Amino acid sequence: MKKCKVRFAPSPTGPLHIGGARSALFNYLFASHQNGEMVMRIEDTDLERSRREYEDEIIESLQWLGIKWGEGVAQGGENGPYRQTERLEIYRQYVQELLDKGMAYYCFCTQEELEMERQEQLANGNMQRYSGKCSDLSDQEIEERIEAGIKPSIRFRVPQNQIYVVDDLVRGRVSFESDNSGDFIIAKSDGIPVYNFAVVIDDVLMGISHVIRAEEHLSNTPRQIMLYEALNFARPEFAHISLILGSDRQKMSKRHGATSLVQYREMGYLPEALFNFLALLGWSPQGEEEILSPEEIIKGFTLDRVAKSPAVFDLDKLNWVNQQYLKKKSNGELAEMLKPYLSESEYADDIKRLNDFQYGLLVEAVRDHLVCLSDVTRHMDVFFREAVYEEEALRALEEEGVMTVLQGFRDELPQFSEPVEAKEFIKAMVKKLKLKPKNVYMPLRSALSGQTHGPELPFLILIWGREECLRRIDNAIARIR
Ligand code: GLU
Repeated sequence: MKKCKVRFAPSPTGPLHIGGARSALFNYLFASHQNGEMVMRIEDTDLERSRREYEDEIIESLQWLGIKWGEGVAQGGENGPYRQTERLEIYRQYVQELLDKGMAYYCFCTQEELEMERQEQLANGNMQRYSGKCSDLSDQEIEERIEAGIKPSIRFRVPQNQIYVVDDLVRGRVSFESDNSGDFIIAKSDGIPVYNFAVVIDDVLMGISHVIRAEEHLSNTPRQIMLYEALNFARPEFAHISLILGSDRQKMSKRHGATSLVQYREMGYLPEALFNFLALLGWSPQGEEEILSPEEIIKGFTLDRVAKSPAVFDLDKLNWVNQQYLKKKSNGELAEMLKPYLSESEYADDIKRLNDFQYGLLVEAVRDHLVCLSDVTRHMDVFFREAVYEEEALRALEEEGVMTVLQGFRDELPQFSEPVEAKEFIKAMVKKLKLKPKNVYMPLRSALSGQTHGPELPFLILIWGREECLRRIDNAIARIR
């Protein structure tokens, strides 16, 4: 059996889309499951839209996600170069082979002529396809046109009355009639091959056994198969994976929020969470458990468990998955990971002034409230802003006996060195004042922070320190008076 070898072949015309990341991941999972290989090829023949920055960003995004490959633009390999614009000479030879065999021909039609042809077909209600006008030019006619300086494109002569059948590993048997396609361009007049041509040459020369890609390329497959046959190449297996839809079941677009991997990275979603979440976009594991390590996913990943129906991108689910992975992080790890986000916070200077111990407490106090890392800045007000009294807090401060609580706290407050000491201290107050815990906690929290909810009070007290607590209590007392 041919060794399993897959490829991911992005066009560097924008950041890596969630759908692209999912295709790359499925290739990686499929290959890893059977100890196969993966190639990373850059399809940059769209000269106007391709950018090196996007290429770098795509590669970085994939590496961040945890996808590894053995051959590609960065590290090279024996089937390189891996950037299509560096392979033009290779494509030229195969274009020539088709020309020599009479399976392709020069086409001198201009854009205007082609457009006119299209309009006519449209007006007559005919199928829109190339008329074949240049398909039977004589050698002399060709020479004359070339001498006149017209640069031809090259068209593939589509065989008539053929049916092409693909046993797609996800979609099942799909068939296409060749008559639906007019002779199509394989190389443009500037010599650059089109996607359908370059992809075939590359997949063959790079030894690709399985082409796993987005469903939108299913319609390109018949043209590619025609080229495999014309060049006497063995075909790879094909697997077209379904679209990703937004929660409203429309094709995922900017309307649905972030669509590129790098946006999720910037928001502070963890790569292992996205790896897990993206794997579940179309693939279903055998058991109930959905939080799975890369090794577990690889072990269970087969294409017969990949759905034919579209996958729905559910942000709530991603949030949930991310939280599961955040929970696995130690405080120390999280403390480091949150730093870049906190340095963007409006309280960056206050946070920098905290000692390591206080900073650790800050992280511990907020960690369970985070959906993603960037969320952390939303939770900083309570620590660093002057208390803004919510209505509920004001009501809590109007209750009977509140002054005794605040005064008692104020008069006996020591400098704590652990949250548990603050906790014990408040417990002792409860006992001494013979009150319900709530009737001590609530006024204290309200007075100190202006809110009735928030991080655990002992953590707040430690992070503020004794002086700041006294200042806050005094403000509250003055306010009540
Ligand atoms: N360059 C194509 C794309 O980005 C790749 C299609 C394929 O995998 O054949 O969609």
